[in-house]
Amino acid sequence: MKRCPYCAEEIQDEAIKCRYCGSDLRAPSLMDWAEKRLYRSQRDRKLAGICAGLADYLGIDPVLMRVAWVALAFLSAGIAILLYGVLIFIIPNQDELPRITSSEP
Ligand SMILES: [Zn+2]
Repeated sequence: MKRCPYCAEEIQDEAIKCRYCGSDLRAPSLMDWAEKRLYRSQRDRKLAGICAGLADYLGIDPVLMRVAWVALAFLSAGIAILLYGVLIFIIPNQDELPRITSSEP
């Protein structure tokens, strides 16, 4: 059992709608997602942290993201490498982001 964040009544874990107050319980997780920021990873970087940052943002394995980039680099005849260079300037470093979440260890 978990508690509804709106009326604090006990509800089913898998509930997507509170049966007491009728609140849509999927909304909070959607807001969490909206608060996610794209950044260049500081702790898991091979080149500039682009792959790890993107992977974290999309919720996939950083290794998969690197494989995807390499594959894309070949398929796009180098355009992906140019894009990577551009992203280094566009995406901020993890350290430069304002602290907005409390999920940091
Ligand atoms: Zn409720």
